[in-house]
Amino acid sequence: MTSTFPDPSQRPVLTLGHPILRQVAQPVEQVNDPALQHLIDQLLTTVRLAHGVGIAAPQVGTPLRVLVVASRPNLRYPHAPTMAPTVLINPSLVAASDDLELGWEGCLSVPGVRGRVPRHREIEVAYLDRQGQPQRRVWEGFVARIFQHEADHLEGILFTDRIQSETDLLSEDAYQALDMAALGGG
Ligand code: ZN
Repeated sequence: MTSTFPDPSQRPVLTLGHPILRQVAQPVEQVNDPALQHLIDQLLTTVRLAHGVGIAAPQVGTPLRVLVVASRPNLRYPHAPTMAPTVLINPSLVAASDDLELGWEGCLSVPGVRGRVPRHREIEVAYLDRQGQPQRRVWEGFVARIFQHEADHLEGILFTDRIQSETDLLSEDAYQALDMAALGGG
């Protein structure tokens, strides 16, 4: 059953064609700004209710360098690993493995489409947490992929820009059929 009263902290997600998705986002200067903290709460709520595994502030119309990585199994990503949602402010890629791997991605801003995109298998990232403390993390596999996808949003890049072959771009329906076949399910 669908709620008649949407969560007030959920924000609409901009979709392909909106110019903010193509802007380079600006660095955050005041982490303790109440408006920024409110934005972070909205991102956490929006990614959860939209069944995403990550979201970047430009996707809700605020071109600031803030993103959330929140992998967990859900309707859109049934095989995703579970982690505590992580807020990254002014993130940077400190190191990345040379090896790239292809993997399927979707995007709340590109509904109905999945694409197979090359990403670094392992990365190290630096960022400020929502208390303004510097942090570093090493991530690999799907979680590293989420970070690289969301960090692209801060540069105005969408995953479809990184597709290398036309066979690597599928409708959601075609992707779901492929996924079922790969799992031997029906
Ligand atoms: Zn996205």
